[in-house]
Amino acid sequence: MISLAEAKGIILNSCKNSGHEVRLLADALNYHLAEELTAKFPIPRFDNSAVDGFAVQSRDTIAATTNTPAKLQIAGTVHTGEATTFSLKSGQAARIFTGASIPNGADSVVMLEDTTSESDTVNITEPIAISRNIRFSGEEFKEGAVCIPERTRMTPPAIALASSLGVTQVRVFRKPSVALVITGSELVQPGEELGSSQIYDSNRLGLMTVLAEMGISVSCAFSCKDNLGETQNALSEALNNADVVITSGGASVGDVDYVKPALTSLGGEIDIESISIKPGKPTVHAKVGTKHVFGLPGNPVAALVVFALLVRPALQVMSGGVYSEPKLISARLGATVKKRTPRTEFVRATLSTEYGELKAKPCHGQQSHMLGGLVNADCLIVCDGEPGTIRGDDIVKVILLPWT
Ligand code: AMP
Ligand code: MG
Repeated sequence: MISLAEAKGIILNSCKNSGHEVRLLADALNYHLAEELTAKFPIPRFDNSAVDGFAVQSRDTIAATTNTPAKLQIAGTVHTGEATTFSLKSGQAARIFTGASIPNGADSVVMLEDTTSESDTVNITEPIAISRNIRFSGEEFKEGAVCIPERTRMTPPAIALASSLGVTQVRVFRKPSVALVITGSELVQPGEELGSSQIYDSNRLGLMTVLAEMGISVSCAFSCKDNLGETQNALSEALNNADVVITSGGASVGDVDYVKPALTSLGGEIDIESISIKPGKPTVHAKVGTKHVFGLPGNPVAALVVFALLVRPALQVMSGGVYSEPKLISARLGATVKKRTPRTEFVRATLSTEYGELKAKPCHGQQSHMLGGLVNADCLIVCDGEPGTIRGDDIVKVILLPWT
C-alpha cells in the first residue's frame, strides 16, 4: 500500500497532454490555453473617464472651496462611444460619462456627485488632482503584453478578458476522451426493475457527471457482471474507444474482483494496487500502452472521493493544466472524530463561519457506501497520523470538494 502523495507522483509523472485544437472562445470554458493571448492594442485602448462627471483642467480648481466654488463653463458633452470634437480651454468643463474618451485639454474628471450645475455652468467646491478619475491608455496592458499566459484555464473572467482583446477563437489543449466500465453483478440501471439483493448503479451517472463538471464527456460506458470474460471484453472495448478508462468496483482482492486480472491479461502494467487512504483503499492504476486505466472502488463515496483526489488532477494535467496541490484550509473541528486506521482518512464535512471563524462539522453518514454524507459535504477533513481521537474544537486541515 502506498501513500496518496506517492500515488499522485506515479500517475502525474506519466500523464501527457492530448494535443491542441482551436475552439470558439464561447465554447472554451474550462479548457486550458495552448497559446498566450497578447494585447493587439493598449488596454485600455484610449484615455477615458472612470466616472460620470465633468472633465476639467485641474489648475482651474486649485482655489475652489464650498464658499468660493470654481465656476466653469460647460463646453459640451462626451458620450461613451463618441469621438470628441472639441478641445477644452481654461475655464471650461465637459459633461462626460463613464468610459467616454477624455477630450483634448482636460487632465482630470470631477465626479457628478461632487458638483452642482446651472444651465451652462458647473460649480466645483474643492480642488481636483491632476489625472484624477482618468483610466489611462495601456495602464493595465501595454500593446504586445501577455494578458493571459499559456496553460491558463479559461474561467469566466479569462473568457471576458479574451473578449476584451477582440479574440473570437483560441488554441486550447484537447480534453482526453474517457470511457467507463462499471462492474458488479448486483447492479441494475435506475428505471429498471430491482430483483432481490440487487441495487441501483450509482457510479455510472456519478462518474459521468463529475466528468461533465470538468467539461469531459464520456465516449462510451459499459456495464459488466463479475466474471473475467465480461470484464476483459468491456475493458478492451473501452480501451479501443478512449485515452482514459475509469472502472468502478471489482478492484479489490476478492474472488470476484476481476479488474486486475483483466488488466493483466490485456497487457496492462499495474503500478498502483491500493492506496493508504479511507475511503478509497482498493484503488488501481495501470498503463495499457499509452492509455491510463483508473480502477476505482465500487463503494460510491469512495469512487467519487478518489476521483476528486487522484483522477481529477490527472485529467487536468492531460487537459494541459498545471498541477497544484489542493489548498489546505484551517478550520475548527465541530465534533469529535475517531480515526480508526493509520491511513489518511478523509472525513466528509460541512464548512460554515461561526463567530468569524471557519468551522468544519462532520456530516452524518461517514461510511463509504453512505452517499448522503457526501451530498451534504462541501469539504473533506484531512486526518493524517496514528489512529486516535481528534477532539472537537481542535484546528484541522480541510480541502474543498471540487463540485461544490
Ligand atoms: P466492490 O468495489 O465491487 O467490491 O464494491 C464495493 C461495494 O460497492 C459493494 O457493496 C457494491 O455493491 C457497491 N457498488 C459497487 N459498484 C457500485 C455501483 N456502481 N453503484 C452502487 N454501488 C456499487
Ligand atoms: Mg463488485
